[in-house]
Amino acid sequence: MKTHFVPRVNQLDSIQLDNEITNLLRQQIQNVLQVLPPGLLSHLQPEINLVLNSALWNFSIRTCYATFGQQMLSITYEKDQLPVEKLAFHYFLTTILPYAKENCHFRLTSWSRLQKLIQLAENALVLFNLVNFFKFLRTGARPTLVDCLLRINHRSLDGAKRRNIGYSYMTRELVWAGFMELLGFTIPFVNYHALKRKIRNVLRLESTHRQNERVELNADTKCAYCSERVILPHHMGCRHVFCYICLKGNQLADSGFQCNVCDYRSDTFKKVVVL
Ligand SMILES: [Zn+2]
Ligand SMILES: [Zn+2]
Repeated sequence: MKTHFVPRVNQLDSIQLDNEITNLLRQQIQNVLQVLPPGLLSHLQPEINLVLNSALWNFSIRTCYATFGQQMLSITYEKDQLPVEKLAFHYFLTTILPYAKENCHFRLTSWSRLQKLIQLAENALVLFNLVNFFKFLRTGARPTLVDCLLRINHRSLDGAKRRNIGYSYMTRELVWAGFMELLGFTIPFVNYHALKRKIRNVLRLESTHRQNERVELNADTKCAYCSERVILPHHMGCRHVFCYICLKGNQLADSGFQCNVCDYRSDTFKKVVVL
């Protein structure tokens, strides 16, 4: 008995993997359906799911006595616990019953009494699942309600080997999370505007600004900062025109803001007056 022991975590993980596999395939089918004209196959959604679930069931439980998730974790059902009639019942519980429920939700929406009944049954199922889960935690066998109903157990294929847990991923995640936190903390302290200006000053050796030039403003004038049509034209003292928002925003962000065309610097600015 002990050599076929399956840890609880593996049994739970196998259920999780099964759900992931089903969702992955459903998503793929959804992607295909999206390409087709709308309404062509969307009304057959329950049937499509039934075919998918039946195919999954056929290639896993019927042929290997283990779901795909269980196969990935080297678990299987006890073969002698699953004779043909139990296998058929398993198919009914895991595939036909969900199809019937989905069908009722999808097609018989006007049958309010039936819907209420289904809701009641679903609530009861949640409760039974909870009770079964507590039982599973205690005994370590039959994690799902279907397993419990059919009285079938999991068996390990590679003996009582415990699962080795690799901590390398966890360490990587922790290091990455720490790095992100550090970035999140330091980035607000970096003044990019000032940094950009300093680098530009280093790269551009000679100053090109000339004072006391006339401001040019005509129908084609573009803002020196955003290169768009100027909104509320303002200038710092050089001949280049800025939008009010561009100039004020930059001066607030960087106290040493310079005109980004001619490097002219001023702490104040004026409205451009058209004479
Ligand atoms: Zn602008
Ligand atoms: Zn300028």
